[in-house]
Amino acid sequence: KAWYPGHVQKAKRQIRENLKKIDIVVIVLDARAPVATTSFEMKIFKDKQRVFLLNKTDLADSEYNKKWACEIAKLYPTLLVNKDTNRKELLTFLKSIPTKYANPRIAVVGVPNVGKSTIINKILGRHKAKTGAQPGITRGVQWVNVEGFTVLDSPGILFSEIFSKDIAAKLLLIGSLPIENVDDEIFDYAFKIYASAAGVQKDIVQFLEEYGRSRGLLKKGGQVDYEKAKTLFFKEVSEGKHGRLTYDTEFEKFWEVLKNG
Ligand code: GDP
Repeated sequence: KAWYPGHVQKAKRQIRENLKKIDIVVIVLDARAPVATTSFEMKIFKDKQRVFLLNKTDLADSEYNKKWACEIAKLYPTLLVNKDTNRKELLTFLKSIPTKYANPRIAVVGVPNVGKSTIINKILGRHKAKTGAQPGITRGVQWVNVEGFTVLDSPGILFSEIFSKDIAAKLLLIGSLPIENVDDEIFDYAFKIYASAAGVQKDIVQFLEEYGRSRGLLKKGGQVDYEKAKTLFFKEVSEGKHGRLTYDTEFEKFWEVLKNG
């Protein structure tokens, strides 16, 4: 099942065109799901220098944050970041990347909603919100000079190419998959992953019954509005309102996905 029918081709074309000019790709992952957020077509970056930012660490388990950073750093420069990371920290990291390029051209890439625009804004020292960019609305692509780098002022939006239930469920849990595009099988599976990480014993029906009632999400007759409860609950989970949770915990899977993508 294709989750992003219209956008995918266009986004891919844009990335391919810009890729020719890029020296270093800054791959933004969500620290809650480093495997699921790596499940894109990695081979388009085959001959590019790669570095990783593990973002949204404020929403992920702090022990796993450290473990994931150590693991990925075995092969690539890696930095843990979150909404409080400042411009200086990002620039210091970028400057520390060993590279043969004198004035490397850098692009920030990743799956939807991992925080690419937020990071570009910080690198460029831009305070005004220019987040949530969508493929297609960017007009002319701009390159901006920043202290020894040339940065592409447009996020490279990547789409998951590995359509497993597990990856889809985790992308849903971190808000990288639009809720409208998700079928019940994935919701059920995502809830199981959430429940296991959060230590919740209930099944999805039981849980949403109580959750919906406590939030007053009721239909006319007084029964819980299951659809509303489901939508709100998964939105809240993705925003970290139900705990700091890391869903991907298997390091080997990361290298496997990286190799096969
Ligand atoms: P993009 O789609 O990858 O460009 O992601 P955005 O930069 O638009 O960010 C998506 C959402 O995540 C926005 O609501 C941001 O405010 C939020 N966000 C970005 N980085 C972080 C972070 O480190 N922590 C938290 N809690 N939220 C973040």
